[in-house]
Amino acid sequence: MKRDLIVGRMQPVHKGHLNVIQETLDEVDELIIGIGSAEKSHRLSNPFTGGERVLMLTKALREYDIDPSKYYIIPLEDIACNSLWVGHVKMLTPPFRKVISGNALVKQLFAEENIPHKQPHLFNREEYSGTEVRRRILNNEDWQSLLPKSVVKVIEEIKGIERIRNIAQKEVSEIAYEKKTNQN
Ligand code: ATP
Ligand code: MG
Repeated sequence: MKRDLIVGRMQPVHKGHLNVIQETLDEVDELIIGIGSAEKSHRLSNPFTGGERVLMLTKALREYDIDPSKYYIIPLEDIACNSLWVGHVKMLTPPFRKVISGNALVKQLFAEENIPHKQPHLFNREEYSGTEVRRRILNNEDWQSLLPKSVVKVIEEIKGIERIRNIAQKEVSEIAYEKKTNQN
């Protein structure tokens, strides 16, 4: 059984994730999709909860007509010790052959446990990136075209845009402090 693992925070799920999932599914029997930093939410760099990201991914995979018997979606919480993280991931996931990730730390930690790594082929990385999606949301630019339609719907359902804009607002005291330090 060829079963691989792909890991990403997916804040939010975007077309790059779907492209790499589709491409990988052509090469394997089953794919485990690990949602990283699952416990984090309500921060500008991690706005959505693990559960909201499970919802985005489930709807997007359905929109792309991907056979549900081919994948497992597993939320992966961070742990304090990087050196123990691979064991933590193995505890939570079905057995897998190799890991697919563009993240240098993920690559390093799996290599130290002798688990093979594959660098994914990148799709339109300038635009299909979580950082770019969050930047566009904050700047009122077109973010919708970077996401599957079903993910846009989920973000609307959970009032995600309002959340991101609200948490980006600074407190009056912070603005006053910045003004003061800029003058000095
Ligand atoms: P962020 O900017 O928030 O870090 P991201 O776009 O890098 O978001 P992650 O949630 O960090 O996405 O997921 C990272 C993994 O998803 C990568 O290691 C890679 O495997 C895959 N991935 C992300 N974007 C693309 C893309 N455009 N093409 C192919 N794979 C991608
Ligand atoms: Mg990333």
